[in-house]
Amino acid sequence: MHLPSSQPRPSVFYHYQVHPATAAGAAAGAPVVIVGAGPIGLLTALDLARFGVACTVLEQELQVSHGSRAIVLTRRSLEILQQVGVERPFRDKGLPWSFGRSFYRGREVYRMVMPHDADDRFLPGLNIQQQYIEEYLLDFCARNPLIELRWGHQLTGITQTDAAVTLRIDTPQGEYALSAPWVVAADGGRSTIRKLLGLRMEGRSYPGNFVIADIQAKIDLPTERLCYFDPAWNPGNNVLVHRQPDNMWRIDFRLPDGESAEQALEPALLARRIDAVLHMIGHPAAWRMDWATVYSANTLTLPQFVHGRVLLTGDAAHLLPIFGVRGCNTGMQDCNNAAWKLAFVVKGWSDPVLLDTYSAERVQAAREICEEGGRSTRFMTPPTHGTRLMRDAVLSLCLSEEWPKDLLHWRTSRPHDYRHSALNSDPAAEAGFSGGIGVGQPARNVKLGADDYLFDRIGSGAGFHLLVFCGTVPDPHLDRILNVVTGQALPVIRVLIGPGARAGGPPAGGAPAEVLIGDADGHVARKYAAEAGTVYLLRPDLHVCARWRKPSAAGVCAALHRAACALTNPAAPPAPTG
Ligand SMILES: Cc1cc2nc3c(=O)[nH]c(=O)nc-3n(C[C@H](O)[C@H](O)[C@H](O)COP(=O)(O)OP(=O)(O)OC[C@H]3O[C@@H](n4cnc5c(N)ncnc54)[C@H](O)[C@@H]3O)c2cc1C
Repeated sequence: MHLPSSQPRPSVFYHYQVHPATAAGAAAGAPVVIVGAGPIGLLTALDLARFGVACTVLEQELQVSHGSRAIVLTRRSLEILQQVGVERPFRDKGLPWSFGRSFYRGREVYRMVMPHDADDRFLPGLNIQQQYIEEYLLDFCARNPLIELRWGHQLTGITQTDAAVTLRIDTPQGEYALSAPWVVAADGGRSTIRKLLGLRMEGRSYPGNFVIADIQAKIDLPTERLCYFDPAWNPGNNVLVHRQPDNMWRIDFRLPDGESAEQALEPALLARRIDAVLHMIGHPAAWRMDWATVYSANTLTLPQFVHGRVLLTGDAAHLLPIFGVRGCNTGMQDCNNAAWKLAFVVKGWSDPVLLDTYSAERVQAAREICEEGGRSTRFMTPPTHGTRLMRDAVLSLCLSEEWPKDLLHWRTSRPHDYRHSALNSDPAAEAGFSGGIGVGQPARNVKLGADDYLFDRIGSGAGFHLLVFCGTVPDPHLDRILNVVTGQALPVIRVLIGPGARAGGPPAGGAPAEVLIGDADGHVARKYAAEAGTVYLLRPDLHVCARWRKPSAAGVCAALHRAACALTNPAAPPAPTG
């Protein structure tokens, strides 16, 4: 019998709520079961609900995660949270930032400036602890009637047929079986589902251990990422320092080679080292320990994320090093990619082959991230004598020269570009553009007014977005394209941009899925390299799947059907919502 702890986890900054175990459930009836209520399982549940798809979420624990885990959300993750309509509490609690500093032997060698465009609503990074990430997502899940969360329910077995997946669940009240057409495995790095399906990850593990310690201390420093190479108190190794909400500070430092985790976590030694870090940053304040562990880096991914009726996502699908804030942020892009595809299949609009593109696109992304994460890791923890010599040579040069400093830039998790996706269309039409947003890339935000951005107006709609750039006079050709495309049996939101943007006829399904953006100064058009008559087709995750200078209704419809892997006779016509 599964008996999860009902003792609130200890913490100096976070008040853990222990949820009552949910009674052992019978049939759920939801088309999707999500295993794991970490950030990725919860966000997937909310993203599915955006499309009207119900799910049951199983969580083996009774409270949110323990200790220091994800602490930085990227701009892209905030944009995804905004699409799902839940970003507000994150912005209220988190600490936004765009700068970093690197030091070598006590001297500042690099001031890192993360890319930021005046058109972006969010700064490149937002520091917030994973406990809050989960809590806020849970709050939204609890309010959503399409999401049922079962606390204290541990998955212990899985079988599947062509029609359904059956899960064996253990609870404080005993075992039961649960069947559903689709299962999302969001059960984390030690995924039971991955093990039960016999799946192996590919990639590598890196030598070198880091201590991760979270302390609470009143330190008057801005929110920046601080990185110290070869400090006097830890020669040859490095230290990372991140400010978090609630006067919390995350300190990561590499252990001397040969030192065990037990030695490193010995309280007196750990306290001396934390004092040394605070002294090094010039703020030898009093502090309280919240949590500490020893960590080593992996760059591992499954080669396939979809196995029959099971989709693996987040840490269950890949394990990434903490350098570059890739773990949680990569998982959020997985959710954003998987949720609309699964929803379209569940709704009967798309052939299940659409789910194969989730695997293809996100495995490709994971491989690129493993490569990038591996480079960051080799710089932080050089695995050989040769790589250490090279790293130290770069750092030494940075003391006197400007040109090598960009090598110290901390490349972070980034939005992925699905340029090779099977869902993209019309490479010939793409050739007519120079600039703008290329096919496969995520759409870019545009500032429309003092506190008004393009992504405040589009993105949360549950469907494709057809961006039509209008001139000053009505264009019957564009009107026809709009009417034909939004008359298809797939949800499409019409977005009319330009001085001639005016309300069209009611879209298919009768819902008011139309957005008008005046763009009097042509700012949006410039960002999208658009002229009057230009059309972009965005997938529901806001990636461009086709664009045209000279669109035709037939071409746009074909691109829409291709991107949705549309069934010829969908089960029911959708009612798009704006
Ligand atoms: C020490 C440490 C430091 C990290 N630092 C960072 C960082 O700085 N930045 C960053 O982006 N990422 C960081 N990460 C990674 C980040 O925490 C993960 O990428 C993120 O939590 C992944 O979310 P997830 O939902 O996929 O998995 P998890 O957060 O692990 O959630 C999985 C959930 O599934 C539940 N579960 C597991 N098995 C079962 C089962 N059999 N039945 C039912 N429920 C089950 C678990 O209880 C858990 O709630 C760190 C991780 C660790 C361990």
